[in-house]
Parts: sequence; structure tokens; C-alpha cells
Amino acid sequence: MQSLKELFRIGPGPSSSHTLGPRRAALMFREAFADAAAYRVELLGSLALTGKGHLSDKAIIEAFQPIPCEVHFKSKETLKHPNTMIFTALDAQNHAIDSWTCYSLGGGAIAIEGQDDLEGAEVYPHNSMKEIKAYCESEGISLCDYVDRFETIDNYLMEILLQMCKTVDNGLNTAGLLPGKLKLERIGRKLLDKANLCESAMEKEKLLLSAYAYSASEENAAGGMSVTAPTLGSSGVLPSLIYYYYYDRKIQRESLLRGLKIAGLIGNLIKQNATISGAQGGCQAEIGAACAMGAAMVAYLRGLNDHQIEYAAEMGIEHHLGLTCDPVGGYVMIPCIERNAIAALRALDAAVLSEFISKVKQNRVSFDMVVKTMNETGRKLPMELRETSLGGLASVVEVDPC
Ligand code: SF4
Repeated sequence: MQSLKELFRIGPGPSSSHTLGPRRAALMFREAFADAAAYRVELLGSLALTGKGHLSDKAIIEAFQPIPCEVHFKSKETLKHPNTMIFTALDAQNHAIDSWTCYSLGGGAIAIEGQDDLEGAEVYPHNSMKEIKAYCESEGISLCDYVDRFETIDNYLMEILLQMCKTVDNGLNTAGLLPGKLKLERIGRKLLDKANLCESAMEKEKLLLSAYAYSASEENAAGGMSVTAPTLGSSGVLPSLIYYYYYDRKIQRESLLRGLKIAGLIGNLIKQNATISGAQGGCQAEIGAACAMGAAMVAYLRGLNDHQIEYAAEMGIEHHLGLTCDPVGGYVMIPCIERNAIAALRALDAAVLSEFISKVKQNRVSFDMVVKTMNETGRKLPMELRETSLGGLASVVEVDPC
């Protein structure tokens, strides 16, 4: 598996596959054909169907600025990958100089047809939880030690942690409507105000977490700087938990950093053995993965053992199996923002349940089993329910035409 640096990336929202990946590809293409007079980009598949709402065109045009770039959305193609982009460099007479076919793989990762793997080298020698646990047992180390053994990543993860908190803060301190036709109001701050008035500790905890998840997700939906965790669409789950544990539960940064390593390991295993792309696996691959990562981190912060951490992560995915991706109007807002809050609450519940259920029964479903199942389920989801906005909620919720 690759470094956690390839999983946690900082970039502008709202979508790692639809803004971060295309932006990276555009910057690379620009560097390769710096003398071009103009550029043309065709977005195909899911990128054509939801690219407008996901701001893909804006991300690409900005990457080429000040050189002009036309972006065309082209659907109805038979494609090798659901997120396909064709970049063409043009001379002063508008003739094509060269072109690249690129794929946005999810989480900001990209591939270019005919070129070597662009993403980083493999730094972890094991590719499943079973292999990792066997190695840890033979070496007498924990899952967290496992990450430390194969990469030095504390400084990088501290940057990630700080950006996550900053994203929540930015969301909490911004009011008004989110951009786009849904005319959706930001409510993160309002939820925080409600939380602070709560007398019940249990309700307060739920509202605080929701306020932070909404704030981070609203900031992402507005195109603000966010962290892929594992994607931008699901970038409210981990930051809300980190913010809550740091500011409200007063957990030290060093412990949160170790929790982030565990979360990263879980996200990496899902990325390696299934997918973290909504266009490939539906929302279970984004929100389900984020919930599993959050559940594992919370389990670690609660002092649970590695077996219980695995159980919490497994639950985080198991109860999101089959979750479809149906963003209304192509915006990463409905159901995405609320879904981040629900997943953060579920992550907390999964960690609590794993602690107690693991004491009274053996889990019949391993983490590797549920990841495999998620992958197979994702492949069976119809195209309409994999980030195309052609089905599900996207087909019943009205969007203001103006
Ligand atoms: S529905 Fe889920 S997978 Fe789809 S865009 Fe929203 S958060 Fe991402």
C-alpha cells in the first residue's frame, strides 16, 4: 500500500474526484505543454454528468489561467473509467498539438493513459488487515506502531490535523447561502449555538459533532480548503471527530495524531482492496469509508485494543453497504452534508458498540470481508446511483432552474 500522504491530501472542495483530481491533471498537462496557445478539455462519464455542480470546469480553467481553456461536458460514452478526461493542447491556429486521456481515480488520485503509475510508491508491504495483524502479532507491535515502522509521517499528519480543524473553524465562522442553484443555507454555526444551549450531555455531544461535520462539509461544498478523508465529499466526518475530541474532550494532539494513523491505515486498506470513489462504488465507498476510519480512530482514542479497533471499522462500513451516490443537482450538498454528520455519529456509536459487543460475542464478519463485500456491492450498483445525478434523491428533489 502507498503512503498515507497519498490518502490525506489538502485541496479546494467540493470533490476530490471532480475538482482535486482534474486540477492535478490540468496542472501536469499545462507543465508538459507550456507553449500551447490554448487548451481544450472534454469531461466524460460521471465528470460530464455532475462536473458542473461539482465545479470541475472551474477547477480546470483556474489551473490553466491565464491561458484560455474551453471545457466541454460530454455524456453517453462507453468508457474505460467513469471519471475520464481528455486534455488537448492547441496551437495559435486552434490545431491540436497533443492530447492526454486521464482518469480521476478518487480521493484526488489520477492516472494518465500510456504513462507510468503517477501515484507514490508502495511503502507498506501488506495489503490486508489479516496480513497486517499477523505481522503485528509476530513483531509484538500495535496497528499504530505498524504505521510508524513503515513511514515517518508525524509532521505531515500534523499539517493534516491542523487543516482539518481550520476547515471546521472556517465553516463555523461563515454564514449565508452555499453557491449554486440549491440555495442551501449554511447551518453549522446555528447547530453549535443550539448545542451550547443543550442541558442533556448526550444531546449536546450529538449536536456538537453534527455542528462540526456540517461546518466542514459546508466549507467543502463552498469550494473551501479541505482534507480528503478519504475523499472531499466525505471530508466532514474525521475533522468533526478530531475537532470534538480536541476542543470538547481535551484529548492531546499527540493522541489525535496516533488516531489519525489508525484512521489512515483503515482508509488505505479500503482504497487498496475496494474503492474510495463514489463514481465507482457509490456513497458507501466515500461515507462508508469515512465512517470506518472515524470509528477506528475513536476506538483507539477510547483505549480499545486492535481487535476492537478492527471491529469498530468493520461496523462503520457494514452498516453503509449499498449506500448510493445521488447528489441533487450534481452539487456536493444534498444528501452529502447531512450524511457526513450522520456518519460521524455512527462512527462514535460503532466504537462504543465494538467495545461492549466484542466482550460478549465474536465478530463473524472481518474487516477484510466487509471491504470485499463493499467492492462487489459497488460494482452491482446501477450507473444512475454512482455519482451521475440520474437517479435516487437526485431524481426527486427539485432544483431551482434559475
Ligand atoms: S452522495 Fe456521497 S459519494 Fe456522492 S457526492 Fe455526496 S458524499 Fe460523495
